Amino acid sequence: MMQQLSFFPEKNIDPRPPVSVNWNLWHGCTRASTGCSNCYMYRRDESVGRDPSIVQKTDNFDLPVRILRSGKYKGRYKIPDGSHIWTCFSSDFFHPDADDWRDDAWDMMKERSDCSFFMITKRPERIGDHLPKNWGNGWEHITIAVTCENQDMADKRLPIYLSLPLFRHSDDQTYFRRW
Ligand code: SF4
Repeated sequence: MMQQLSFFPEKNIDPRPPVSVNWNLWHGCTRASTGCSNCYMYRRDESVGRDPSIVQKTDNFDLPVRILRSGKYKGRYKIPDGSHIWTCFSSDFFHPDADDWRDDAWDMMKERSDCSFFMITKRPERIGDHLPKNWGNGWEHITIAVTCENQDMADKRLPIYLSLPLFRHSDDQTYFRRW
């Protein structure tokens, strides 16, 4: 895990430094467009004989809310306060096969409002109908980015994406330039 400054240092009362951590809460996906043709998850799964099109919950589903059961920091979250959590990078958070699990995922992200979460989707048309009930105009600690591999996809996806109630909008390239 890489160490990284918190988005919300004033909330970081944990004596441990914040970290940057991956949270792949479900794994597997189906291709949404030509931009998926070089999907690294497909390449990796196929190289080990695994079917990448099957979407399954992972053992790390509850990672952000896991509590340490022993040691110096017993009782604290396993992921320190103020950490940055890269979310759902071996699937698409808005994939339809994950609809039954997403509400629990939102609940965990709400519970960890001290952390920041970042996710990327190629399915912005599914975001609006799959936000949590208490979303309002967006949660400050959640960034949802959309990828557009060509002008056609930009024309299709960006108007939908920009119309959504997100606290901050980010295409993935501008976001990664900040980090
Ligand atoms: S949406 Fe993302 S995870 Fe899904 S197939 Fe496309 S590139 Fe891979």
